[in-house]
Order: sequence, then C-alpha cells, then structure tokens
Amino acid sequence: MHVAIIGAGLTGLTAAYELQKKGHSVQIFEKEFLPGGLAMGFQRDNWEWPLEKHYHHIFTSDNEIRKLASEIGVPFHFSRPITSSYIDGDILQLDSPLKLLMFSKLTIAERLRMAAVLGYLRYISGWQSLEKYTTHEWLQKYLGMRPYKMLWEPLLIGKFGPHFKDISLSWFWARIKARTTKLGYPDHGFQKFADTLANKIIENGGSIKYKSEVTEIKENRLTIDGSVKDVDAIIVTVPNKLFMKLAPKLPGEYMDKLQSFKGIGALNMVLELDLSFLPDNVYWLNICDESYPFLAVVEHTHYIDKSHYHGSHIVYVGNYLPQDHRYFSLTDEELMNEYRPFLEKIHPQYSSHILSTTVFRVPFAQPIVTQDFSKRILPFQTPLKNVFLANMQQVYPWDRGTNFAVEMGKNVAHDIESSYEKHS
Ligand SMILES: Cc1cc2nc3c(=O)[nH]c(=O)nc-3n(C[C@H](O)[C@H](O)[C@H](O)COP(=O)(O)OP(=O)(O)OC[C@H]3O[C@@H](n4cnc5c(N)ncnc54)[C@H](O)[C@@H]3O)c2cc1C
Repeated sequence: MHVAIIGAGLTGLTAAYELQKKGHSVQIFEKEFLPGGLAMGFQRDNWEWPLEKHYHHIFTSDNEIRKLASEIGVPFHFSRPITSSYIDGDILQLDSPLKLLMFSKLTIAERLRMAAVLGYLRYISGWQSLEKYTTHEWLQKYLGMRPYKMLWEPLLIGKFGPHFKDISLSWFWARIKARTTKLGYPDHGFQKFADTLANKIIENGGSIKYKSEVTEIKENRLTIDGSVKDVDAIIVTVPNKLFMKLAPKLPGEYMDKLQSFKGIGALNMVLELDLSFLPDNVYWLNICDESYPFLAVVEHTHYIDKSHYHGSHIVYVGNYLPQDHRYFSLTDEELMNEYRPFLEKIHPQYSSHILSTTVFRVPFAQPIVTQDFSKRILPFQTPLKNVFLANMQQVYPWDRGTNFAVEMGKNVAHDIESSYEKHS
C-alpha cells in the first residue's frame, strides 16, 4: 500500500515509521523546510543545540515517546527543575505536596483542602464520570473561591482565554494524574528527535518532501503545489479547520462537526540574555495575575545547561491567545513594548542584558476541550474513502503533547493496516 501523509510533525512522522514496519511505502508532504511541526527548533550560528520555538519537555509518564526515543536512539534525560507561581509580586515554589502545605498565601484549612482535592483527583482512575463537570465550577466548589481564584483561574484564563469557563474537568484530572515533577528533554533537543525519526524513515525507503504544501485532498488523490498524486490512503495531521479548506468535498454534516471544534493560538517570545532572569534557579514561573499580558516565564537554561547555547540564558515569555487577538498583528518590537513594564517587575535590570529577541506565533496550538468532549471526538476514518484524520483535536482527556502525537501516529497506522488487511 502507498500512503501519503500530510505533515511532518510527530504524528505524521510516527505514522510513517510504523507503516513502514508493516511493509508499506510512505511519502510525507510538509510545508515547512524541517520536520517537527509544533516541536520544531531553530538555531543560532554559535549554539551547539537547536532550541524549540515553543518551550517543550515531557513527563516521566510519557511512555509512548520514551519507547520511540529508545528505539531510534535519542535518549531523554530527566531531572527535577523548579516550578513556581508569581502571586502578588512574590515568587513562590509550588511544585510538591510539601510546598503546598507550606504555601503561606492560603490559610492552613485552604491548603489542607487543596491537598485533599488534588490528592483525590490523582488517586481516582476513571475520568469518564468527571467530564460532565467544568473545571471552573468544580474547582470553585471543592477548593473554595479564594484558592481557586488565586491559583487556578489565572492559569485557566491564560491557557484557554475566553473559553476558560468551559473546560472539561477530565482535562484537569489528566493534568493532575499524569504530570510529574521530573521532566525529560531529548539529547540535543526535540529537533534532533524529529530529524532522527525523519532520517530513519528515509533510510527505510520512505520519502519526505519539504516546502511542499498540500492544497487539495480527494479520495485517494491529493494536490501538492499544483501537481496531482494518486495514492492508496492519505493521513491528514493538520488541524480540523485546515482540513476543511483542503477537502471542500466533505459532506456538510461532517463539515459542521469539524467546524464545531475550537482552538487557541500561541505566541512565544524567546529572549537570549547575558544574565539569568528568574531568581533561585526557577525554571517555570506561572503568572497568577490577570493584569499581566503573558501566562508564563520559562527559563530554559535553568533546566538545560546554557553551555549548549554559547553560554546565553534562554527565557521564553509564553502566551496562549485567540487567533484574532491583537498581539498576533504586532511586530516583535511592539510586543516587547507591551511586555516590558511587566518583565521589569520580575527583573528590573533585564532589558540592558538582552542579546536577541525572537517571537514565534502559531495560530492553532491548543484545542478547547469542553464538557462531554469524548462524545464528540471524530474517528480517524473520514467520510472520504481512504482518507484518515489524526490531529491534536482527537487527543483527550490528556493534554495534547508530543507523547500523544506519537501515540496517535501509532494508532492511525494500526487502523489503516487493519482496514487494509480486511479489504485485501
Ligand atoms: C506553545 C506550545 C508548547 C508546547 N509544549 C509542549 C510540551 O512542553 N511538551 C509536549 O510534549 N508537547 C508540547 N506541545 C505540544 C506538541 O508540540 C504537539 O502536541 C505536537 O508537536 C503535535 O504534533 P502533530 O504532528 O500532531 O501536529 P503538528 O506539530 O502541528 O504537525 C502538523 C504539520 O503539518 C504541517 N502542515 C500544515 N499544513 C500543511 C499543508 N497544507 N501541507 C503540508 N504540510 C502541512 C505543519 O507545518 C506541521 O509540520 C506544545 C505546543 C505548543 C504550541
């Protein structure tokens, strides 16, 4: 069977790699000039390692990507960087049950209650009964209004913007359940991981065409930069809205379903500095203050050694925003003008230590997972014969991520293989 795959992100790459194991021939079309998709890196001339355009790490529970990493020989290294929260101008470490019990901004009763609620969510295994609740209402009720407003509501707003009240409790459960304090990062970064997987696919006889944008999809047929190609099956890994544009012949009812899924974009400012930005070796700083124009400050080099980046300190200023937010139309300099007064509150002298500033924008970064989301998830098989959809909007209740892209790539390859066996 000859399978065409649209997108050389981790879903597309894994699907190709798995299909090759079953003896199928694969061809990937990628509109960018590198593999990696949302986990793609960039590299300055004097850096030893590339750096992700958007901060990336995995958790010890991310077994699918860990298995693939050892198979292709790109090990992940695990360590325990510090996560803190920025509340009322203070930076407070809040990344373990002990730190929560010592957290002085809440009363002892509030701390004990929060520890009990988070412990309960971590303990239970079934998420299905939770998805009829929203995180917003459930946390208010069980944590109490003040702790919810202080710690969780700013993060929900930061991550989901105007949709923050609608997020399924199962999504929150999955975060509490699967997230670990130890974090993993691949040797030489996620770009190395994607490059190695891409090279394996080519060594195994597959082809990857970069700077090749697919413009139309029909049953067993796709158009790439004006030329038409016939194949036995197609895997589409782009977001639903883009799939709708590529396949205008999809039936109306299915189009309505695709249309009903919402998403939010991301905007990351990467600062290269000649001094450290966050105090006390903090890696991840959640900004629990709605007046701030960003969600998190992530000092990558408080996690990964700065020697890989020519001794520079690397800091991400991260934001999730609706695709039509005005920040997407600002220049890098204009965006910095918006951020500067707030960054100065965290580190007053930082601006005279900037070596470079780069902003990366992506229109679709995070699906909005609402109540009873599992009932809406679309199967891989689309109404177009032999056209399969496998994208972030089918990941649930787990938060989308590289581990789940790998898992989805494996699963869609398995489904295609099974339907091929049935019909041959
Ligand atoms: C800000 C941010 C932070 C993140 N942090 C983490 C993290 O810490 N840990 C983690 O595990 N995950 C993280 N993720 C999520 C992770 O990057 C994604 O879940 C994963 O990379 C998705 O892979 P994918 O292959 O499904 O999709 P994508 O990576 O989106 O791949 C789709 C590919 O299709 C290509 N494409 C689009 N249109 C066309 C076309 N018409 N023709 C050809 N090619 C096309 C795109 O260029 C892209 O390469 C983060 C994502 C963001 C945005």
